Amino acid sequence: MCPARFCMGSGDMGIAVPYRLRNSDAIPSTERGMTKPSITLIGGGLVGALLGTLLARRGFAVELFEKRDDPRVAGFAGGRSIILALAERGLHALRQAGLADDVLTHAMMMRGRMVHPLGGEAGLQRYGVDDGEVIWSVSRGALNVLLLDAAEAAGVRLHFGQSLVGADFDAGRIRLADARGTEREHDAGVLIGADGAGSTLRAAMDAHAPLGLRVEPLGHSYKELEIPPTGGDGRARFALEPNALHIWPRGGYMCIALPNTEGSFTVTLFLPAQGAHPSFASLPDAARATAFFREDSPDLLPLIPRFAEDYDSHPVGTLSTLYLDRWHLDGRALLIGDAAHAIVPFHGQGMNCGFEDTVALAGLLAEVGRDSADAFAEFQRVRQPNADAIAQMALENYVEMRDSVADPHYLAKRELGALLAERIPSHYMARYRLVTFTHLPYAYALERGRAQDALMRRLLGDGCYAKAVDLDTAEALFKAELPPLARG
Ligand SMILES: Cc1cc2nc3c(=O)[nH]c(=O)nc-3n(C[C@H](O)[C@H](O)[C@H](O)COP(=O)(O)OP(=O)(O)OC[C@H]3O[C@@H](n4cnc5c(N)ncnc54)[C@H](O)[C@@H]3O)c2cc1C
Repeated sequence: MCPARFCMGSGDMGIAVPYRLRNSDAIPSTERGMTKPSITLIGGGLVGALLGTLLARRGFAVELFEKRDDPRVAGFAGGRSIILALAERGLHALRQAGLADDVLTHAMMMRGRMVHPLGGEAGLQRYGVDDGEVIWSVSRGALNVLLLDAAEAAGVRLHFGQSLVGADFDAGRIRLADARGTEREHDAGVLIGADGAGSTLRAAMDAHAPLGLRVEPLGHSYKELEIPPTGGDGRARFALEPNALHIWPRGGYMCIALPNTEGSFTVTLFLPAQGAHPSFASLPDAARATAFFREDSPDLLPLIPRFAEDYDSHPVGTLSTLYLDRWHLDGRALLIGDAAHAIVPFHGQGMNCGFEDTVALAGLLAEVGRDSADAFAEFQRVRQPNADAIAQMALENYVEMRDSVADPHYLAKRELGALLAERIPSHYMARYRLVTFTHLPYAYALERGRAQDALMRRLLGDGCYAKAVDLDTAEALFKAELPPLARG
């Protein structure tokens, strides 16, 4: 048993009591005249701030507690990935909040992958069929600030420098601590944890009633570096093609670079954490890393003038996939975004998936006749298979990015895919496009992608030449074996 009412460790197996509205929790709805529970959101990162906005606009009273200081005053203390790829699912959620245009004003368009093979010419592999299918590079800090402004404008009460440190689910109270460690209690109402991969609310819920937590480390870690703008004449210029996501695929590892609006690129080096060379263990300092990159990425190294300083001072981040059997404690507490389903970043979908969560959850909570227990159960039923699917596809995409993008068989499949997309758009769409440019469920994209892949393998055999495939045969095969693509 937990020594205190507020559980943070293992032990308290208290039986869940359904959440009941207390008078002080109820507010009149501006939407349908029904009473709605007040909501306490933990975490004012990307998902928490957007969810707060969507809920407040639907008439919920929302209080949001964020561990960090207000980034609009103190500056953004990032920690993780300072730049992110935003795709259609995330944009769709931002449109619901009326924020998509503002976000895109500060974003860089990326048309495809610019692949930099060792000793070869760089080449662009388009993501979509045209400029209607692109992804966007956005600054995490600027996006977070914009989302917090929107949440505040929608009526969310924001509290910064307030860390969740414990929760008593039976009493409906949480414990918060400020930066000096001074603690206070707060009546929680319905609790939603958007406090990220290391979620404190998750730990408290798991201690109250085990959630079936599994963390699968990738075994590869990352470090961020920077390619600054060029041009000593006061006019900043991009050192590389600005409208692309650059990849240096090297088999067992890779570097990527995403453009920033002010002319720089954020480079992320992904390497095995331990083990045989190359790994972060075998390259523990800038001297050894510089010597290695001089051989392995001679075109990239000169673009990073502060390579040595940044390599030695920037932290190594770890990467894992997080699975939970249960995302909620009846109607009292729910996890969302990375807190429920952190994934590896290789499909650029973690935030996009979390944003898609917010639209689904806000819609369910606002439905007439659903209480929070019902809404949370339905949210998990709908979203969990999709979170599992994108987790799987993100893992597969690492192999594709670091290895396959330079492989002749993969390139032949891509080429055949492009021919099929043009000829039978009703029956073929590349899995990447299903994930990135549609709203079709991730689970559908995974399943459809597998089926399409099997047919492509049958058509290509061991060959690496797409033009050798008879397209009449291909069309007949796809139409016989697969239903038309779903719309969405
Ligand atoms: C290297 C890397 C690259 C990535 N690239 C992409 C990409 O290109 N595209 C994409 O879609 N996704 C990407 N992701 C994933 C993306 O960063 C996450 O999915 C996203 O940040 C999840 O948002 P969140 O709000 O759930 O969690 P977070 O962004 O982690 O926010 C959690 C918030 O909760 C606060 N908090 C934590 N603990 C407490 C507490 N106890 N009390 C109060 N507040 C607390 C934190 O301070 C933080 O503000 C990437 C991730 C990594 C690691």
